[in-house]
Amino acid sequence: TLNEKLQSVFKKMRGEARITEDNIKEAIRQVKMAMLEADVNYKVVKKFISGVQEKALGEEVLKSLSADQVFIKIVNDELTSILGGEDPSASKITLSSTPPTIIMLVGLQGSGKTTTAGKLAKHFQKNDKRVLMVADDIYRPAAIDQLEVLGKQLGVDVYSDKDNKNAVDIAQKSYEYAKKSAKDIVIIDTAGRLHVNNELMDELFNIKKAVSPDEILFVADAMTGQDAVNVATKFNNDLDISGVILTKLDGDARGGAALSIREVTGKPLKYVGVGEKLDAFEPFYPDRMASRILGMGDVVSLVEMAQDAIEEDEAEKLADKVSKGGMDFNDMLSQFKMIRKMGSFESIMKLMPGMGNMKKADVDEDQIKKIEAIINSMTPRERRYYKLLNGSRKKRIARGSGTSVSDVNKLISQLQQMNKMLKKFKKKYGGADKIDKNMLKNIFPM
Ligand code: GDP
Ligand code: MG
Repeated sequence: TLNEKLQSVFKKMRGEARITEDNIKEAIRQVKMAMLEADVNYKVVKKFISGVQEKALGEEVLKSLSADQVFIKIVNDELTSILGGEDPSASKITLSSTPPTIIMLVGLQGSGKTTTAGKLAKHFQKNDKRVLMVADDIYRPAAIDQLEVLGKQLGVDVYSDKDNKNAVDIAQKSYEYAKKSAKDIVIIDTAGRLHVNNELMDELFNIKKAVSPDEILFVADAMTGQDAVNVATKFNNDLDISGVILTKLDGDARGGAALSIREVTGKPLKYVGVGEKLDAFEPFYPDRMASRILGMGDVVSLVEMAQDAIEEDEAEKLADKVSKGGMDFNDMLSQFKMIRKMGSFESIMKLMPGMGNMKKADVDEDQIKKIEAIINSMTPRERRYYKLLNGSRKKRIARGSGTSVSDVNKLISQLQQMNKMLKKFKKKYGGADKIDKNMLKNIFPM
């Protein structure tokens, strides 16, 4: 297999101290292929690779790694960083200090604007915001109905006027209405076309002029592939978009559109749609998208190998913590981050004798997301000292994370349970060389 081939290449090269054009030739070819297969625009691929190559040349190679591994790790990191870095919070929607915040959704027909309007409405509704959706796709009556159905389903107000044939006028009136009825957020669902045309752009531009949106979000179908570049460029040039929402990532699109759009517009990716249902909506995670783009299993496992070596340090820190008596929510969070990145318990396993050959454990993604949301809603002090968490703090955290107090309680007892198990574990298995799956399940009761 490819992986074996690469492994043997690595073997030959291990011990080379620096990255040279020669010793990363094969790695470059692999990464290029992975990116093209992921439908990244070829010009973007070329530019990206040559940029990374330039950066990598001359780079020192760690003893335990090969030049290829280091190079691929650099590619992965650079990709993550271009896509928005480790911290996606920088690319959230900022609410206007003078409500309502106006969000305008633009994009081609079928890209997912109307669905995304509903998803955003639900998202803000969860955060106790008063939302208005505006049916400004006036050319197809069905489009207005579609938004109204979503509104009913969510219990969110929809502004529509089937008799008004002027999209700019509707936008303006909806804004007046939103102010009068003290809405926090206005989401304008606009018309799309199958292809970009000037008439459409003029209309969108005039809506923009009329209501000066706080955000103009370009909604793009992740399956669009190579064409994404031209469409995104046009929308950005004409409307100066503020961000991007990538839809239909639940399909088998490898996400190359994310990189292409990011590269040509320079605008942040903010959210992704991962299904037709209204809760199939997530913040954009740059690191996950990077893995998806490099998604060829072989490349990903190479990146993980390199990460393993680098994260050993982190794992050791954790081991320290454990032996000093107890994890807090920060540890729990970073543990979940690691698990998510590696898709396994590998890093914990490294701490324990005999666990190296454990198979990847099943991790319930939704559950992890919920846990992360809860911990993210805690203050640093609360994360450190869970005993601070009294009734009112728990309520605040539950509200902030869109969960319930009983979810928060459950997580607290999980942490207590984890610590108890780790202690027992140390006592009982400290010198043992075997561990079974049930034991792990007890440490991470999920
Ligand atoms: P619009 O023309 O831009 O308003 O697009 P719509 O919101 O009407 O969506 C077009 C189609 O794509 C509909 O069938 C949606 O259910 C579907 N859709 C939208 N977003 C997603 C998504 O994230 N995943 C999947 N699988 N389907 C989506
Ligand atoms: Mg629509």
